[in-house]
Amino acid sequence: VSFGAYHDAKERVRQATDIVDLVGGYLDLRSQGRDFVALCPWHNDSRPSLRLNRERQSWKCWVCDIGGDVFSFVMRREGIDFRDALQWLADRAGIELPSRGGGPAPAEGPGDKRTLLRAAAWAEARFHEFLLNAPEAETARRYVASRSISDPNIRRFRIGYSPPTWQWILEQASRDGIARDVLQAVGLVAVSERTRTFYDRFRNRVIFPIRDPQGRTIAFGGRVLPGDDDANAAKYINSPETPLFSKSEQLYGLDLARDAIAKSRHIMIMEGYTDVIAAVQHGVAEVAAVLGTALGERHLRVLKRYVDRVTLVLDGDAAGRRRANDVLKLFLAANLDLRILTLPDELDPCDFLRDRGADAFRTRCDEAPDAIEHKIRVETEGLDLARDTHRANVALEEILATLALQPIDDPASPVRLRHQQIVARLGRRFGVSESALTTRCDAIRGSRATPAGSPAAERSARGLDRGPGPSASPGDSADLALSARGLPDRDRELLEILVLDPALIGQLVDTLPSELVASQEARRIYEACAERWHATESLTFAQIMTDIEDADLKNVLVDVDETARRKAARTEHSTRERLTLLVRAYDRIVARREGEGILADLQRTAEEGDDQVDKLEALLAIHRQTKCP
Ligand SMILES: [Zn+2]
Repeated sequence: VSFGAYHDAKERVRQATDIVDLVGGYLDLRSQGRDFVALCPWHNDSRPSLRLNRERQSWKCWVCDIGGDVFSFVMRREGIDFRDALQWLADRAGIELPSRGGGPAPAEGPGDKRTLLRAAAWAEARFHEFLLNAPEAETARRYVASRSISDPNIRRFRIGYSPPTWQWILEQASRDGIARDVLQAVGLVAVSERTRTFYDRFRNRVIFPIRDPQGRTIAFGGRVLPGDDDANAAKYINSPETPLFSKSEQLYGLDLARDAIAKSRHIMIMEGYTDVIAAVQHGVAEVAAVLGTALGERHLRVLKRYVDRVTLVLDGDAAGRRRANDVLKLFLAANLDLRILTLPDELDPCDFLRDRGADAFRTRCDEAPDAIEHKIRVETEGLDLARDTHRANVALEEILATLALQPIDDPASPVRLRHQQIVARLGRRFGVSESALTTRCDAIRGSRATPAGSPAAERSARGLDRGPGPSASPGDSADLALSARGLPDRDRELLEILVLDPALIGQLVDTLPSELVASQEARRIYEACAERWHATESLTFAQIMTDIEDADLKNVLVDVDETARRKAARTEHSTRERLTLLVRAYDRIVARREGEGILADLQRTAEEGDDQVDKLEALLAIHRQTKCP
């Protein structure tokens, strides 16, 4: 029975993808019993902690406390959302997905993303070959050498050159059969308003291809060669916004940094391509750069998939200080640890690395103050706190306003502890009591309109935002309490029954309304199971897993599945018996709620004295029922 074209396509992609084959493409697998294990790429793993379950087609690292299926492996590994992971796996398996609108798939042309990606890759190769081989590229080669970029790095970053003519890439394209409107959609050419003809956007520039985190070329940056005749030419230009490229989201070099940052969960953000290349050349791999824009909210959303800590590397000028101030609030709200590294003597990272070396750079990085400390330093710079009380108060208010952005609802969060330490430090520094500071901070927080039920607040309350940081020690791995993920016992029992014997949902759907499932995670999974059952009268573990697209919920499912099957091997109760007990437990909840309702009614109508006897009898009946074993 069909459950819609979209679900059918998902199903086909799942069936065409084997977890062992997929993960084996990324990691070295070793067989262990019936399963495979690998060194987990998301923590500093010395013994293989990532386990593949071939039968369930699932993966799990107990140290990181993360797991999932083929889709969520690709989501996590490639840093993409479910739809993109589905497309990625469909491409890999050669399966055509139905288009989202249900209409025919777009033909090859400027509207087709894959055509644009092919064109960008093609152009990258043309520029790169030209830089390496063309006699006309001699000046460009000399410039690149003068920036001490090594040959291996020229190749690694696929640096290229576009000569100073107006139609070079257009001529290459017409020779290779690439349409002009496709080049325009990639941002390589533009149309002259005066002559209405196409012209190359990048002329006489060293080309730095910009790639997405998956390593696909999506845009270009160009640096004009020194001595260019055109005095008006900007030193650096980037591709305009295109269907492939958004500068507020992309970071230069992130694709090459991914393996390094996956282990350390830390990245340094610089301001230019050449800074990144210089860092990599000096053996500092955890680097990326913004692309002609300040670090913004969308960058953070991308970075959060990979890291817990970001060090912003700034030139030591005033503009750099202002930028730090601007991003600080974003970081606090995103609950990411931000450090600010200000280089001395107005050096940029390139110069600093060349003059003082990578070790000095790393030391500076390790000593970089966190963002709030940085904020305190900036606000109190040159201020006599004891004498200039007015300015001290202004500075303190400014600092507290920033501090109040920190989410500290979760009492177990390290942020909260850190917050308290900062308040204590501020108190000493400004000579104000800690309680007064906390009160003021709470007042600022309270005056901001952030509804308590906002998704972010809920997430942080549930603790799902906790990344697989290096803080998890291998000792945690055997602790099955993790598998509970804070699920109430009854919800966990429900999920365990569903993963062990999914067809039992048939006995539940009509009797168990989803409102009775207490936790949001279990309720969403139960609802997906019920929806599938209503549509197809069938349910398997693989179907549940494929229907659920949320990576966190997939994680919960794998978690429950692993625990459930271990438990099932030990217990004498059959899944059916467990279901009977569970249904009784839910019945008791319903009965208790009804009883409470009647009691409330009774109290309301006590004065009027009518039909109290009937109600009392009903209550007693329920009472007897709930006492039954
Ligand atoms: Zn791990």
